Formats: sequence, structure tokens, C-alpha cells
Amino acid sequence: MFTAPKQSLRLSLPLVATLWCACGISDAELGTEGPPPDEELSSTEGQALVSCAARTDTGYSNGNAFAITVVTADGQPIELATANAYSLMQRAAEAAGVPLRVVSGFRTMAEQRYLYSCYVNCNCNACTLAASPGYSNHQSGHALDLNTAAGGVYNWLAANAGRFGFARTVPSEPWHWEYWGGGPGGGACATPPPCDRSAGGFTFSCDGPQPGMACVQLLETSDSHTWNDNYLCSNVNLGMRWSSAGPLAGMRCTQLLEGADPDTWNDNFICVPETSPYRFNWSSAGPIAGQVCVQLNEPADPHTWNDNYLCFDSSTIVRQSRGPFTFSSAGAVAGKSCVQLLEPSDPHTWSDNYFCSDTDLGMKWSSAGPIAGMSCTQIVEASDPDTWSDNYLCLPPGAPYTFSWSQAGPRSENCVAWYEGADPHTWNDNYLCW
Ligand SMILES: [Zn+2]
Repeated sequence: MFTAPKQSLRLSLPLVATLWCACGISDAELGTEGPPPDEELSSTEGQALVSCAARTDTGYSNGNAFAITVVTADGQPIELATANAYSLMQRAAEAAGVPLRVVSGFRTMAEQRYLYSCYVNCNCNACTLAASPGYSNHQSGHALDLNTAAGGVYNWLAANAGRFGFARTVPSEPWHWEYWGGGPGGGACATPPPCDRSAGGFTFSCDGPQPGMACVQLLETSDSHTWNDNYLCSNVNLGMRWSSAGPLAGMRCTQLLEGADPDTWNDNFICVPETSPYRFNWSSAGPIAGQVCVQLNEPADPHTWNDNYLCFDSSTIVRQSRGPFTFSSAGAVAGKSCVQLLEPSDPHTWSDNYFCSDTDLGMKWSSAGPIAGMSCTQIVEASDPDTWSDNYLCLPPGAPYTFSWSQAGPRSENCVAWYEGADPHTWNDNYLCW
């Protein structure tokens, strides 16, 4: 690990010792961080990987010990903040086709003592110059040695590292880069900001879209500094849209009012397709009792945005109608022609679910495979494959409708949500279309 230096940086010991005693001058300024081995400088093998499993070690800054949090990137221990910034820089490099890797990150006192002893005694690590133990920025967590001998890496860093907060600090060491803050923020091991809020399959995010969720930006143009990174996200794509210019035609829109800001918050609406099972209610006076509520928390505005909630009442969403069809989770609908949607393994929640049509189409339900001689559509729920593998909704031949099933939101205008309020996480995106 500490052998075969790329180049010798030997200085006379008395000179180095003198410089090191000039306390307050950083080792980086003295050019004493030491090079990593040749083969590792050009190394790009190994998968780029950040492990956020954190441990506490002892870091040193100007000879003073402190507790340092260390994670792992490219197999090397790296201080947490440096690792977050590095992960963003590495992702950008990868997008540009540049295989950036860490060769050496955080060093313990024992490792630095070893390198220093090699240098002083000239009996290992090719006598390569090393900073005095306790004074290397590899010990303070700020320094990374990067694989700058690999193709394209150095030139990419020279052009891009600055916007991620990294700077080259040792003139004689092109591989040595330090992070002292700055960059875009976030990163692979960043904890979510405490302002994000989640409930009922929805998340309000104060820091951009949530990975893996379907998000709409909640933009208030008059307040673009604090409302430029706020998003409402759902576990699945529900077709939500945001408007800061009044309700959207053809959608079911809920107005978001902030009484303290009546001039700018008088035309903001969150909208869902008319086929959506969700009927949002807005409260600017805390959560609504008995409903599922997501706080829209703008931390920059704690006085006026501490009591704003977007809510829905999952228990009262018992009937979805579209065109001639109705899904009911509260029994058959009087005056309509209904089939019971019985799932024998789920009798508690599925015993009162019915699918109805305005006229008698001869529909039948089967929980034991398709019915011979009928045109059957399989009704599946991927999260429940064992019990929902053999359920079919069937129409007689010649029926004026052809059904199709969607587990990912409505496919068209002609869809009705099958919303089971007892199972809002898995039955919030299931639709029967025709
Ligand atoms: Zn270094």
C-alpha cells in the first residue's frame, strides 16, 4: 500500500523538521502529503461504490485529536462530509465517461506514523516524504488521493473538481485533492433534511424530488428562493400536477392557501386526474383529525408554514365511478348491476368490494381462473401474487366493452380506480380500464 512511490520528494530532514515546527502552516502548503503507489494512481479496477456504514475513528488536525466519522468509498475509508462531496463528483465524472477512484482517503495515526517513520529512517515506502503524524490532511479527513494517472482523470478534475468543492492543494502532487466545504450539497451518505415529511404513501420533500418516487414540483414563482426545491411525491405515479395559475381544466384540483401570503398563494392548486381515488383536503391549521395528512413544511418560513397540511380521508373513499362503471368498497350499489369481488384469502377487506355497471352486462367474477367461454381479464396485485394470481373479471362474448387491468395508474380517461382503503399502499394505483 505504501510502496513504490511515483517520484521521490526527499528533502533534508533538518529543513523539514524546521518547517514542521513552524506551527500554523499546513502540511499541504509544505507539499508533504506523500504520493500513493504507482499502480494505484492509474487504477480504475473495482466497482465504484460508496458504503454509508459509518464508524467513528480518531482524526487529527494540527496535532489535535478529534472524533471523526468515517464511511467507505472505492474501498477506502473517507470522512463523511468529504465522502458525500466525492460521491457527487464521482457520479458526474462517470457520466462524462471518466473512471474516477479514490486511492487513499482517511489515514489513522498508526498509518501516518508508519509513513513518517519510513521517511525519517529511509527504510520503507521508498523514503517518500510524509507529513508529521497528526498534521496530514489525510488525518483531518479533508484529503483524498485520486487516480490521476488514469486516462482523462486529471484533466477532468482540473476542469470540474472546483464545482464539487475540491481543490488541488499540493503543487508537487497532482493526485492530492482536498475538500473543505462547498459543492452542491447532499451526496450518497447525506441524511435526509429534517424538513421532509411523509404519510400515507406521500412525501413532501424540501430538497428536490425523492429517489424512486413520482414527484411534482411545488413552484411558487414569487417565492422562488425557498420554493424552488419543494416537491410532493407519491409512491407510484398518480398523474398529479401542480398549478400556480388556478385549477387545471379536466382535473380534480385542491387549492393550497396560505393566509399569511394571500397575494401569492391565492392561485396554487394540486391536481389529480378525475379518475384518481384521492380527494385532497387542505388545512392551514394543523392536520385534520382522522385523515392521512402530509405536512407541507417549508423550513425557511417556519412561522407561516408550520401548520399547513395536505390530507385525504382514506376511509371515506368507498366509491369510484367513471362512465358506466363503479367500484365500491362498501357493498353493492342500489340500482346498478354488481358482481362481488371476493378474494377468499382476504375476506375481511374484500368481502364488501363490488364492481358495478349501470346496465346488466352479464359480468362475472372468478377467483379460480378464467371462466370458459367468457372474455376474462386477470386482476392482479403484484404485492400479493399468491392470492391475486387467479382472479378474473369476465364478460360474455359480444359484450360492448373490452377490459384491461393496470397496476400503474389509469391508462386513459376510461378507467375506474379499484381503491381498497384498508390497503392504501398497494391498492392506490390499480385501475380497470376499457
Ligand atoms: Zn495526499
